[in-house]
Amino acid sequence: MTTLNSKVPKGPLKDKWTTYKNEIDLVNPANKRNIDIIVVGTGLAGGSAAATLAELGYNVKAFCYQDSPRRAHSIAAQGGINASKNYMGDGDSDYRLFYDTVKGGDYRSREANVYRLAEVSGNIIDQCVAQGVPFARDYGGLLDCRSFGGVLVSRTFYAKGQTGQQLLLGAYSAMNRQIGRGKIEMFNRHEMLDVVKVDGKARGIITRNLITGEIDRHSAHAVVIATGGYGNVYFLSTNAMGSNATAAWKIHKKGAYFANPCFTQIHPTCIPRSGDYQSKLTLMSESLRNDGRIWVPKKMEDVLAIRERKIKPNQIAEEDRDYYLERRYPAFGNLVPRDVASRAAKERCDAGYGVNKTGEAVYLDFAAAFERYGNEQAKIHGIENPSKEKITKLGVDIIKEKYGNLFQMYEKIIDENPYETPMMIYPATHYTMGGIWVDYNLMTTVEGLYCIGEANFSDHGANRLGASALMQGLADGYFVLPYTIGDYLSDDIRTGEISTDTTEFDEVEKEVKDRINFFMNNKGTKSVDYFHKKLGKVMWDKVGMGRNEEELKEAMVEIKAIREEFWKEVKVPGDKNEMNLELEKAGRVADFLELGELFAKDALDRNESCGGHFREESVELDGEQKGEANRNDKDYAYVSAWEYKGEPSEAVLHKEQLEFNDIELKQRSYK
Ligand SMILES: Cc1cc2nc3c(=O)[nH]c(=O)nc-3n(C[C@H](O)[C@H](O)[C@H](O)COP(=O)(O)OP(=O)(O)OC[C@H]3O[C@@H](n4cnc5c(N)ncnc54)[C@H](O)[C@@H]3O)c2cc1C
Repeated sequence: MTTLNSKVPKGPLKDKWTTYKNEIDLVNPANKRNIDIIVVGTGLAGGSAAATLAELGYNVKAFCYQDSPRRAHSIAAQGGINASKNYMGDGDSDYRLFYDTVKGGDYRSREANVYRLAEVSGNIIDQCVAQGVPFARDYGGLLDCRSFGGVLVSRTFYAKGQTGQQLLLGAYSAMNRQIGRGKIEMFNRHEMLDVVKVDGKARGIITRNLITGEIDRHSAHAVVIATGGYGNVYFLSTNAMGSNATAAWKIHKKGAYFANPCFTQIHPTCIPRSGDYQSKLTLMSESLRNDGRIWVPKKMEDVLAIRERKIKPNQIAEEDRDYYLERRYPAFGNLVPRDVASRAAKERCDAGYGVNKTGEAVYLDFAAAFERYGNEQAKIHGIENPSKEKITKLGVDIIKEKYGNLFQMYEKIIDENPYETPMMIYPATHYTMGGIWVDYNLMTTVEGLYCIGEANFSDHGANRLGASALMQGLADGYFVLPYTIGDYLSDDIRTGEISTDTTEFDEVEKEVKDRINFFMNNKGTKSVDYFHKKLGKVMWDKVGMGRNEEELKEAMVEIKAIREEFWKEVKVPGDKNEMNLELEKAGRVADFLELGELFAKDALDRNESCGGHFREESVELDGEQKGEANRNDKDYAYVSAWEYKGEPSEAVLHKEQLEFNDIELKQRSYK
């Protein structure tokens, strides 16, 4: 095991990024014209990077598997994007955003990167406003902000419930300008299937044209991976169906270390699974927890009566309801962070109090908010002695204004009116804090190979705060990578075009083709989804919200067995020289089947509870925090970066020791 060098610049935290920018090597504009950069992924991270690098003068080749960058998974982001602009005058600052992010991540992120993130966060908002992103504005026309979990200020900029979509349209129009100028060559419907290294440096990729099946070679002086997170390793998640880990996993196999794979965010407010034939889960925004109260019945006979539809939740008396978050965490109540809320829901459901037919649902109830807002409105409008119905109606109108689209979405999926019956929610896989290890320059352990956005192990430690993913992706793409990559490329100004007619490209292309041929020729009997679902079940049951040594060991064995069965029995219909969704999925699931095992191995190694990673052996045994997560800073204040060695079980651990000089390590308490 070696210790990793994060290449964090020396000097005080506040000056590191400025000093760094002053001291790096630059590439002059004429030389930039001779340098090619490949950007794989055109979501918010990749789209913003491609546009900015092309604007700077580099020749960019950008790739995505959708038919347009506009359809990247980033479009799904609802709630907002954080920035420390302090427009609300409520005491925000770069330091506070830095502090909240490190604390929210349970002290498992790198201080210098997070501080830089906070520093550039304000620039993102200015940049997006200049692009025309329609952020919400207050009555006077100034940009509005709202609050998200784990913080004491309002720093979340938003565009209704469509923030990701609007930001992506901004990045996409910036890209389009460069596509029009010929500075970005856009390859839609192209999937990167491997990276090519020449003399240890990333110099190209191999892609498959998803419409024609053609396999192509592309070369460049540097390669940037911006391919999103790997939450779909669980099969069911709030991620887009196509979200996958293939690019990240392929570069891992070619030398890029994979960091903290077990750090996953399970979001507490999602629409529960309805049965075995479901392939997607839907997020209900975190903002709902501002007004909704979460509960389950106290009495088992009520639970059973509800499941048998003999009674409705509204018929259960107030004193027979267990508002378990308010009971367990009086200080934060329903607004505890995501990891805490998710575990508490699981605890109640595991104890048998789940309220739907699968036993995996709790209520999110707005009745108290209807009453509170209704009474306020009656006062504002001078309505004397309003009836209960009138109050409810007035309150419902306010909730409709705030969250109408979410209520409508819920009703469409569940076919129940959430204004009349409390919503049912349950935790679901949502985001992956783990990912490819990168240094301060966002470079992986392979020279010239960069990784940005959700695909890298990012700045969120063991738990991401709401509205911070968009901030990180755009910070990486608009404001960090364009500097750091220039420092590296300044050595490449005399290299000239990279040829694709070399043995290195021949070899990797052959590997890609061999694998495709294997899938097409394998005479298996089972669909790709059969294996993906099986993997997802093991991941959820044994590497999910609660993890323990015994089950993690079982998970590793079981995942390996599924993988072996996959290679014998997978059946891919159709042809390779045409659009073939099953073939695409086969490649992605093959990679998930390896990543899943490394994920379990990482979870096994980290015998502490921190953030979204809850080891059942590592809980507080006494005192006020009894039963809560017990973080172990003495033994585990490091980033785990895994080196590929063939089988995932044989991966070698490298540690990046985390140092906290500008923040005091404390236990997170929400009691
Ligand atoms: C429902 C939902 C709501 C969310 N809401 C918020 C929110 O309000 N605020 C917030 O901060 N975060 C939110 N998040 C998280 C946030 O949306 C994501 O973390 C972020 O958008 C990821 O951006 P990205 O650019 O890294 O990746 P993505 O947007 O996932 O883009 C990945 C890109 O890579 C391409 N790609 C992938 N693999 C390949 C390959 N092999 N070859 C070629 N191209 C490839 C894809 O085509 C795509 O262009 C939400 C997440 C979900 C699921």
